[in-house]
Order: sequence, then C-alpha cells, then structure tokens
Amino acid sequence: MSRDALRSAAVACGLKPFVGDQLADWLYVKRAGSWDAMRNISKDSRAQLAERYDLGIAAPIGRAVSTDGTVKYLFPTENYTIEAVVIPDGDRRTLCVSSQAGCKMGCRFCMTGRQGWHGNLDAADILNQFLSVDNPTTLTNAVFMGMGEPLDNADAVFQAINVLTAPWGFGWSPKRITLSTIGVLPALKRFLDGSRCHLAVSLHNPFPDERLEMMPVQKAWPAADVLDLIRQYDFTGQRRVSFEYTMFAGWNDDKAHADALARLLRGLECRVNLIRFHRIPDFPYAPPARAVMEAFRDRLAAAGVTCTIRASRGEDILAACGLLAGQHSHGSEQS
Ligand code: SF4
Repeated sequence: MSRDALRSAAVACGLKPFVGDQLADWLYVKRAGSWDAMRNISKDSRAQLAERYDLGIAAPIGRAVSTDGTVKYLFPTENYTIEAVVIPDGDRRTLCVSSQAGCKMGCRFCMTGRQGWHGNLDAADILNQFLSVDNPTTLTNAVFMGMGEPLDNADAVFQAINVLTAPWGFGWSPKRITLSTIGVLPALKRFLDGSRCHLAVSLHNPFPDERLEMMPVQKAWPAADVLDLIRQYDFTGQRRVSFEYTMFAGWNDDKAHADALARLLRGLECRVNLIRFHRIPDFPYAPPARAVMEAFRDRLAAAGVTCTIRASRGEDILAACGLLAGQHSHGSEQS
C-alpha cells in the first residue's frame, strides 16, 4: 500500500490518519516483520489492524545456492510458487524480481513462457521479494526480469515501484531499478511517463518476420513501434535504455543481424546486452560459440553501438535468463 492507502486503512479501523504514516515507517523503513514490533502504535490499534489486514510478509519456502554465489528463492503466492534471484557482483547485490506466476507472452525460448500464465502477483507479492530474501537491506539494485512480463501486470508493478522509490517507502533512487519488457506498448508509455527507472527491452532479432517466429508479441506491438515510442524520450542523462539480445546459433548471430541491429538502433543513446541462450528441453536451438558472440559484439561496436556480453549467472541452479519456472503450490508441475 502507498502511504495514502495506509492512512485510509488506519481510518477504516477507526484510527487517526497519522497511524498510516507510522505503518509506512514500520513496514518500509524499519522493516518490521510483525505487528508486535510496531511499538509506537498502541496494542489495541495493532489488534484492530491485524484483524483486517495482513502484513504480506512470506518467508521463502525454497532456496538454492549457485557455485557463483547467485541464490534462487522460491516464494509462495496464493496458488503458485514464484522465483526470485539474488545476484552478487562485487559490491552490488541485485534482486531479479518476478511480477507474474508464469507468463502469457509465449516467447518460445523461455521456460516461464512455456508454462503459461497462472496469475498476476499483487504489489505485496512483489515487495515481499525485496523484504524476505536474506539480508534484504543490503540489496543495491533490482531488475524486473524474473518470471512474467511486468508491463502485463502494470498496475501492481507500478504500485510496487512507487513504494520502492517514495521517500516514505524504501527511498530507493529510480536509478537502482530496471524494468525489462518485450514491449507492451500502452503500458510502456505509462512507465516512461510515470517513472524515472531504467528500461531494458528484449529485442532478440532485428528482422520482424524472424522475431515473430519466437515472440508472438511482435504481431501486436512490433519492435519498430516500440523503438518509435522510446525515441520520444530522453535517454541521454541519468535514465538508461538497454536492449537484451539473446543469441541463438544460426538464428540471429551473423553479420546481417548485427548490421540490421545497428541500423535499427542508429542515433539512440543505448546499450546492447548480448546473452548466451540457455538450452531448454524440446527446443531446437543451441547457444553460439563464444567467438561468434565476440565477433557480433565487435561488429556492433564498430558500427557505434555500445555492446557487452553479459555474464551468465546461476546457470547450475536454473536461475539464469529464461530458466525460471516456479510451480503450482498444490500441483505436480516442476521447474
Ligand atoms: Fe514472458 Fe519474458 Fe518469458 Fe517472454 S521472455 S515468455 S515475456 S517471461
């Protein structure tokens, strides 16, 4: 809840609005894990609140640690479990956040997409990932790149971002947060207008017909339209836009693709992140050789596009890009 919503919640319990401010402080600043910890709210008031509201804090029910230090957590939601990943990197500790249980978007290379959509997370489910991983106050950054398409659950994601970036909330700078999308156009415009967080767009192929083979979203919201929208915003200052490009051997890794990608992004202040595809079962494509990725990167760089090969993290615990799956709480579907 926002601070205003917390004030209304307090009033609905017959309490003064300022109790809402106290709740925001306990929940988001002091990170109280129980009603009892909220010592400056009277016992009676806490009891009234506890009768109507839940703190929304749920401990992980599973945890896997990679040899590279990446940790994958399994969190319960109403009828599904979802995954969140913490990636340590020098003095950074980045949380990869899930926004939906499964996903509707159906990208063929993605395990989350393959399992279909099982529901949206609410803002509390999203914030719980920030509150309930180990040592939550040491998180430095967050990327909405976990399970689901965040802009297909825009209201809850924007509500969570509001709590994360508000001074009465977590107080994070928007520069610490990156939202990754395949380009859900109407919600993308809302995101660009309403927040200062960084943007990452999953592009994966510069040719429309080929992109459509792997990403059904291309039909409703072509990448060219997404780029037209992005070009209307300023990414020359603090706010950054990057393009994710997962590389598949023989599909999108040759000179023609590098040249077309450079043409598509010409004039835009941006970065391209090359990601090695992680094999999934019953899917014909394989990752390219490292040398092929390096040649692709160098060709883009020669065309003036800033480009990096992103290190793969947490592959051994199925925490890397495209591998998150979760499972039904009451079913037998496995990750
Ligand atoms: Fe959904 Fe993202 Fe997977 Fe596509 S890549 S199916 S948008 S989770």
